[in-house]
Amino acid sequence: MSAPEPHPVESSASGQNPAQEMVDGVKQLAINAQQNKDTNPASANDAKPKGQKKEKKEKKAKGGDDSVKQPLEFTPTPDFFAHRLALFDRLKKEQDDERAKQDRKEITITLPDGKEKKGTAFETSPMEVAREISKSLSERIVISKVNGDLWDLERPFEKDSSVEFFDFESPEGKRVFWHSSAHVLGEAAERHYGCHLCIGPPTEDGFFYEMGMGLSQDRSVRPEDFTQLENLIKSAIKDKQKFERVIVSKENLLEMFKYNKYKQHIISSKIPDGTSTTVYRCGPMVDLCVGPHIPHTGRIKAMSILKNSASYFLGDQNNDSLQRLYGISFPDTKQMTEYKQFLLEAAKRDHRKIGKDQELFFFHEMSPGSCFWLPHGTRIYNTLLDYMKSEYRKRGFTEVISPNMYNSKVWETSGHWQNYKDDMFVLPVEKEQFALKPMNCPGHCLMFGSRDRSYKELPMRYAEFGVIHRNEASGALSGLTRVRRFVQDDAHIFCMSSQIEHEVKLCFDFLQAVYGKFGFTFKLELSTRPEKYIGDIQVWNDAEKRLENALNEFVPGKWEMNPGDGAFYGPKIDITISDAMRREFQCATIQLDFNLPNRFNLKFRTSTDAEGTEFERPVMIHRAVLGSLERFIAICTEHFAGKWPFWMSPRQIVVIPVTQSVYGYAEEVQRMFNAQGFFTDADLTSETLKKKVLRAETGGYNFIFIVGHEEQEKRAVNVRNGHATSATKGREEVISLDDVSRRLQNLKETKKIENEL
Ligand SMILES: [Zn+2]
Ligand SMILES: [Zn+2]
Repeated sequence: MSAPEPHPVESSASGQNPAQEMVDGVKQLAINAQQNKDTNPASANDAKPKGQKKEKKEKKAKGGDDSVKQPLEFTPTPDFFAHRLALFDRLKKEQDDERAKQDRKEITITLPDGKEKKGTAFETSPMEVAREISKSLSERIVISKVNGDLWDLERPFEKDSSVEFFDFESPEGKRVFWHSSAHVLGEAAERHYGCHLCIGPPTEDGFFYEMGMGLSQDRSVRPEDFTQLENLIKSAIKDKQKFERVIVSKENLLEMFKYNKYKQHIISSKIPDGTSTTVYRCGPMVDLCVGPHIPHTGRIKAMSILKNSASYFLGDQNNDSLQRLYGISFPDTKQMTEYKQFLLEAAKRDHRKIGKDQELFFFHEMSPGSCFWLPHGTRIYNTLLDYMKSEYRKRGFTEVISPNMYNSKVWETSGHWQNYKDDMFVLPVEKEQFALKPMNCPGHCLMFGSRDRSYKELPMRYAEFGVIHRNEASGALSGLTRVRRFVQDDAHIFCMSSQIEHEVKLCFDFLQAVYGKFGFTFKLELSTRPEKYIGDIQVWNDAEKRLENALNEFVPGKWEMNPGDGAFYGPKIDITISDAMRREFQCATIQLDFNLPNRFNLKFRTSTDAEGTEFERPVMIHRAVLGSLERFIAICTEHFAGKWPFWMSPRQIVVIPVTQSVYGYAEEVQRMFNAQGFFTDADLTSETLKKKVLRAETGGYNFIFIVGHEEQEKRAVNVRNGHATSATKGREEVISLDDVSRRLQNLKETKKIENEL
């Protein structure tokens, strides 16, 4: 089963932020580090040279040879199962005995609505409290919080406590549910491969488990294994295996997981000597884990393995190569059906697929992460640029062009050298170090500071479609969404503090106008001063107040506050758009910056200054609407499923003559509409009319002009809608050339999404 890639997959466990000493330690453990790196289906770029594809196929065919049916469970059963369990059972018994001795005093449990219940310490559990409230609640909830900490539902209260409950629909519930499911996936993998598990976290859309192949050293994980793994998962679910918790000392942990060098490493480096942590058992599986979990595996009603990939232990390619299994699970089978439909639809809309089918762009291994825009993709790209440029002229932005590479001294001034150097392409130029710009801001600061500025010039709005390079790891690259080279609709507004509110309101107006053209809805969030910040607290408070005012005026009561989530150099407004599949993306940014104007010593002459000696710092607002054009086109491709609205379509019209004797007229019509600025083709091939029409429809043309003798005489075309739905299919209309041109011009200018004349 192949599944699309809702998020770019990283070929490493990056994001785990491994401590360097852990990485160094594992380097010494590293064996077979070069094994099986090529199983990640997502890492395949859209267009690979033919030779490479062939090589892959051969590999696959070879894999098929040793695909002798494997037993469901690894035989003989690995010793580590019995070893782990024996130790677990002994420690569990000790712990239960200890608990039995605890004082069973009466405690007060405070419910979320403030009501109180009496209970017994070390006996009453959150689950019992939930059952008393209602049976349906107890069946629905996934996890509880006790005194603010996530807490296993069956784990007894220890003292007077407050309790809250969370179901699968809550972020807490989802994480716990998917985290628990990862244990079941790990259990299946251990039983099937005799593998050595590493880490198995929940993700934003499911979970994965990462493993070294252990006793199945000669094998790697393959999609053909998924059925057997899913059968083991089903049996674990049927068994309703309880998640049981035991606290274990570091020495005992090292003994319990002595067969597994990854767990050994994690225990040695993460758990201080003389301390303890918890392990959880479900079925035969015991895993190092702080929990908490769902009460038992039976709560999982549907679970699927989606894909596999390769990674490195702790994300370092000098370490062992590991195998990853990705899964998804739900508390309701209906949700799984819906999810699978969503995946199918997303696969159909995948911009990498449509980009290839419509010949919009491709990638080449000679420049990974840098897109080659083909003629039709370039049309879309330029249409977007032209649109933004026309909006700039209306809205008082001035376009500038700044260099692509700068001496490292600029990056030292901006702070990028200290904080961002690893993500930049650095190159030597005449014994000095230069770097390609990862953003336009420092260049715009140099422009602002290039001469004396007066308050009369503010606000200054510099916009630039500058080419930006960021050194993303090759394994992290994915289609147009994770690239190394891109262009943003970037602008920097230099203004006085008193102008912030007005400027931000203008930004909102801009956003609304643009997103409306694509049919995106959006929501706004304000992120305020974090604990670590630079600058004057008075300036922060004032700026935050102004942003709040702007939000209150623009979307009263409909924006959210993220206290403490702002950047250290200024508060920001996050804008999230929602596409046709209700997926959310952050494209636009409105970020205030008190830092760069300081670092570049930017200043302007104030109005109160008679002698010309009084200066103030401007505030800088970083602002983008589309964000990266590359990514925005990817989002649009999937949002429209490749059916481009007329105004941004790379294939607007195709003229199809019904007989050879009107080819001349067909070409005349094509020339005429091309000259009027519409992307028009004529299909003069020898195919049948039916085939040509079908080809035009699948090719994505907005309008099909059929021309015969009658149309030629009338100086007209027979217009068919190339995006017709089943309801509007077959409708056609003979329209004069003048009339159709007028209607098309109108459709283009109004930028309507609907494909109607
Ligand atoms: Zn766990
Ligand atoms: Zn910027």
